[in-house]
Amino acid sequence: MSEGIQNEIAPALSQFCHEHQSEMLSVLKQAVEIESPSDDKVALDRCGQYLAEEFERLGGKVTLYPQKDAGNHLKAEFPDGGGSKPVLLLGHFDTVWSMGTLAGMPFRVADGRVYGPGVLDMKAGIVMMMFALRALRSVNHEAHRPVTVLLDTDEEVGSTTGRPLVESTARQCEAVLVLEPAQGLSGCLKTARKGVGNFTIHVTGRAAHAGVDFERGHSAVVELARQILDAAQRLRLNHLQDFEHAPLVPHQAEGFGVSVTSSGQWVIVGRSRGSVRRRGI
Ligand SMILES: [Zn+2]
Repeated sequence: MSEGIQNEIAPALSQFCHEHQSEMLSVLKQAVEIESPSDDKVALDRCGQYLAEEFERLGGKVTLYPQKDAGNHLKAEFPDGGGSKPVLLLGHFDTVWSMGTLAGMPFRVADGRVYGPGVLDMKAGIVMMMFALRALRSVNHEAHRPVTVLLDTDEEVGSTTGRPLVESTARQCEAVLVLEPAQGLSGCLKTARKGVGNFTIHVTGRAAHAGVDFERGHSAVVELARQILDAAQRLRLNHLQDFEHAPLVPHQAEGFGVSVTSSGQWVIVGRSRGSVRRRGI
């Protein structure tokens, strides 16, 4: 879209969105009230079915990609705009909120804000995709190029099954807009995403009874604790070096999570396993 055309239709697009705000909220409410935690395939597929119907109503050609261990991924293609490569609108409809969260955190609008599990990340972004397409049509603006919507179902847990589909689809597109929420209240488009690295540490020690055979044991848990502290320190050092070269605002700083996924009680544990998840630019 050239800048001239953009300026010409921008007020009309903005007006369309303002006029349809209550409808946007109603679609968002329905999407949020179909809870869709990453680990619940039945719930995810229920939410995917709702979204598929909504994109079909907009004229999209919907394809569902069946998954055994994740929700089915969803693609909707809008071919208007001729033969050029599409723009990809990318998102996900799994959420970090476990099933039943809605009961204690219902969808509600208060003081100009919307609350509910998955509102921010990122069902509002999906609703924005729908209404952006509708807004363009409302001004009879010939779409500059085709639009493809791709929504996966395991983004919050590492995109294990979604990643190949995202990569292959993105390769066929001219540009990708990820409609994740931007940080802060300025309403800016998100233009960069953090990467994630998952590391699993396996430690083998020597099991022994903690009371009667203490001296023979070497605790895998104690060693795992050392390894985790070491990893945490290295990640922090890396971050501080990065920060020196290219200062980041605090919310962009890399972070990491650590969990011990197996251990024991009463004995000096012979085996332990932990994981370190690193998030960084
Ligand atoms: Zn997200």
